[in-house]
Amino acid sequence: MIQLYDTYEGRKREFKPVERGVVRMYTCGPTVYDYAHIGNFRAYIFEDLLRRFLERSAYRVIQVMNITDVDDKTITGAAKEGVSLRDYTDKYVQAFFEDLKTLNIEPAEHYPRATDYIPDMLKLVRALKDKGFTYETEGSVYFRVASFPKYGALSKKKLEFNISGARVDNDEYEKEQWVDFVLWKKKKEGEPSWPSEFGDGRPGWHIECSAMSTKLLGETLDIHTGGEDNIFPHHENEIAQSEAASGRKFVNYWLHCRFLLVEGEKMAKSKGNFFTLRDLVKDGWDPMAVRYLLISHNYRQPLNFTKEGLKQAENTLKRFDDLASRIMSYKPEGVKDKLAASCKACREKWERALADDLNIAEALAALFDWMNEANAVLDRTDVSTAGIKAAKEFLRDIDSVLGLKIYDEIEPSEEIIDKINERTKARSAKDFAKSDCLRKEILEAGWALKDGSPGEPSLYKRRKRKWDEL
Ligand code: AMP
Ligand code: ZN
Repeated sequence: MIQLYDTYEGRKREFKPVERGVVRMYTCGPTVYDYAHIGNFRAYIFEDLLRRFLERSAYRVIQVMNITDVDDKTITGAAKEGVSLRDYTDKYVQAFFEDLKTLNIEPAEHYPRATDYIPDMLKLVRALKDKGFTYETEGSVYFRVASFPKYGALSKKKLEFNISGARVDNDEYEKEQWVDFVLWKKKKEGEPSWPSEFGDGRPGWHIECSAMSTKLLGETLDIHTGGEDNIFPHHENEIAQSEAASGRKFVNYWLHCRFLLVEGEKMAKSKGNFFTLRDLVKDGWDPMAVRYLLISHNYRQPLNFTKEGLKQAENTLKRFDDLASRIMSYKPEGVKDKLAASCKACREKWERALADDLNIAEALAALFDWMNEANAVLDRTDVSTAGIKAAKEFLRDIDSVLGLKIYDEIEPSEEIIDKINERTKARSAKDFAKSDCLRKEILEAGWALKDGSPGEPSLYKRRKRKWDEL
């Protein structure tokens, strides 16, 4: 049984999808006006852990992550560079996908771009208008929050309204109440716009997610995720729009991760206290250390980002690598050992911890205990083929959830294998210049060779470690 903490109900609940064996999951994605920072990636990595664990638990996951490619920031950025909105945002969409790949985040099934779904958004605005949830002022359409009594149920906010009918000035648009939000924004001179029966304009941010999630996943989603800052007003507004239009429950489980902090403050573009993944990789940090740092803390706890934390993450990766290399290169000679049994015991603890609202800290604690046990077993010579096989399978299983490439990376590419064979031949022919040269190439590709019995070199994956140079 998997338990997930649902923000809406404020408690852990047993997870049951609408359709047996299938999870429909929606994730608020990036606004593509710049590179994402690793605070954003804390949210995307928590979602990746959730997704991988659900898949590991035999669910088929259908995930949608939206790309916001029209808003004030993208419009201003495109205008500044004198390029079209599409050309401007394309660059950051590509960069975002590259970053996801660098962090080994599993791709979602759909990455809808807001500007490709304008007709669906207008259809939703129309439906809300027909049901009496909207009002129009000066060419913009607003959602009247007072007409949706459940508003505030997710964020537990008690909203105070002004005297009904009194108008308050928002920065740019006229609204009846401060809490009302725009569904369709009137065109401003020089800005991209789309024609509609409400006049030329563009969609508000919140309507995007409601329209695209319904179009791609249906009216009721199993899981909707985001960072804690999405709870209010964004997700509250999504519920209001979607439920007002469909009359059905919009989301069964709302999951939110807490912030990545820097010295106690949210990592954010506006605060200037952020690191992009690119900055860190350029400085020599291993992207898998960034992944480990972000994935290894429980998602409902704030996480403070430090370089010291990254160093520790690299240390842990080295422990994984060393054990994986030992297991890979171990020549089993024994008949009886405790390795298979200890894998089984650890797997049970691992599954139980993750099924408890993704308690990764506890899952990792069980894994570290197992690693100590496994190393102690490997120190002896009586390990069996079955023990080594179980340990290899266990590592592969663990890494299907952690996604740290612990196992993949200890299996060299064809190219490396060719080089090793060529080097072995060169050594037998006593061509040491060639053999040294090949060894250097193998080393540069991140592999260390340890010659054992002739013709049987062991391979060790080396990770580049920034802090080795400090
Ligand atoms: P944005 O581009 O600001 O809409 O953010 C994209 C995603 O990253 C949203 O799910 C945010 O909640 C999340 N996010 C932004 N900053 C942080 C942070 N410092 N820590 C965790 N998640 C964040
Ligand atoms: Zn959203």
